[in-house]
Amino acid sequence: MSFVQLPATPIIGRNLVGGEWVTPAGAELLDVRSPYTGGVIGRIPLTPAAGVAPVVEAAKKAAEGWRATPLRDRTAKLLRFRMLLEQNLDKLANMAASEAGKTVAEARAGVLKGIEVCEFALAVQNLDSGGAMEVSRGVTCEFKREPLGVVAGITPFNFPAMVPLWMIPNALTVGNAFILKPSEKVPLTPLMLGELLLEAGIPPGVFSIVHGGKEAVEGILAHPDIQAVAFVGSTAVARRVYTEGTARGKRVLALGGAKNHLIVVPDADPVFTPQAVVDSFTGCAGQRCMAASVMVAVGDVQPMIDEMVRRAAALEMGPGMGALIDRASQERLEAAIAKAESEGAKVLVDGRGKKPSGAAWAGGNWLGPTILDNVRPEMGAAQKELFGPVISIVRVPTLSAALELQHASPYGNAASVFTTNGAVAQHVVENARAGMVGVNVGVPVPREPFSFGGINDSRFGHGDITGQGGLDFWSYQKKVTRKWTARTDGSWMS
Ligand code: NAD
Repeated sequence: MSFVQLPATPIIGRNLVGGEWVTPAGAELLDVRSPYTGGVIGRIPLTPAAGVAPVVEAAKKAAEGWRATPLRDRTAKLLRFRMLLEQNLDKLANMAASEAGKTVAEARAGVLKGIEVCEFALAVQNLDSGGAMEVSRGVTCEFKREPLGVVAGITPFNFPAMVPLWMIPNALTVGNAFILKPSEKVPLTPLMLGELLLEAGIPPGVFSIVHGGKEAVEGILAHPDIQAVAFVGSTAVARRVYTEGTARGKRVLALGGAKNHLIVVPDADPVFTPQAVVDSFTGCAGQRCMAASVMVAVGDVQPMIDEMVRRAAALEMGPGMGALIDRASQERLEAAIAKAESEGAKVLVDGRGKKPSGAAWAGGNWLGPTILDNVRPEMGAAQKELFGPVISIVRVPTLSAALELQHASPYGNAASVFTTNGAVAQHVVENARAGMVGVNVGVPVPREPFSFGGINDSRFGHGDITGQGGLDFWSYQKKVTRKWTARTDGSWMS
């Protein structure tokens, strides 16, 4: 049985420069492999650092005209793009699933979230009315939003459509020319986004794609004409991109990794809670920055753990849970499970060696849901981002101890509490140190216009990546002070 339709022949990806698809000079080619089979489904150029300059040149040319295009007309193109995303939803979802190892349903949800961000950006023309005030007799101050010019986004493997779409709609709507450097592991869905943006009538050069890895990122950070860089990926790279980008005078927002705590107390709903916890740590095979990673079991919640075990063990590999991005990821996770076991964790559900039946999937990167119990706070399984379908249960006696554990994490993306008690929920909402907090929600991603973003080592820079934060990141506010009547009698604004 096939639960995903992989491309029949490898897709040849090129950079998108000035509206043309081109292979950069001197670029090595990289095979793109499907996590489901290990088979080659595409090939892209690894753009060298010097290969970024022609992309920026074309973007710079386009930026002036796009900035001068009325907001209403820019929005009209984005509306067309939003319609094309919807029309191509199945194709986009299938491609994102093929290259990232998600199930098609998960990939679909990612595209739908991207559409939601488009809808926010479509509303900017109606809601973002600036402001003006007479500040002194005959003197008016006004502020208006201005684009930054040429800007760039660098994105991770785990959401091939959604994370680029966190950035593109807001950046384009406010009038920037945007360059996307997608993850070299999932460049094929971004190619489709590029095609749809061209089809929507976005002028050549207003949206560009530069393929590659570290070198392409270095080219972006070094280029003086790129005004702002948004990054989403691991904490180590986020910190580096932030430090190097800001040192070169760029505006940078860099979202990093996570270690999310789900706090479960004895009064939590016994049916809904285990399901929500399992969905959170197994969805997208745990490769989500919002995935549950530590379950903090407060007091006796054994019946809920038993139910989690039953549900996790019953998940069908393939249709129920997809694959890991690459073999290195699989090996890293298997080693982390073995280490936790050797340090005293009890493996309640062991995902090692689990894979879907059928020879077609034998070359894929598989790990089944894994539940580790009796993990102690000082163990790697309790502290490090594992980024796979593994949950570490840490048992604590009180809610205060649960919050202490959450506070000790250097990350701060998400935290949730499962309870039927309003006071317990309120206490966690007030005291959890995370950018996004949930009550009885396993993956507390806010809907737009509530924006997305963590704190601490999960985010370097200020503001959030979507919603109002996104608009503010991709623009500056110009303040204008006007006086038309030349007065000599007492206006302090002389
Ligand atoms: P990654 O950091 O390896 O790669 C992200 C991007 O950086 C890619 O485009 C990649 O080409 C580039 N890159 C990789 N190494 C680099 C280097 N040394 N120098 C410069 N650029 C480099 O991340 P990933 O493995 O693709 O994605 C998974 C990570 O992303 C996880 O840590 C996850 O938590 C995080 N993530 C965070 C969020 C969030 O909103 N906070 C969202 C999605 C994913």
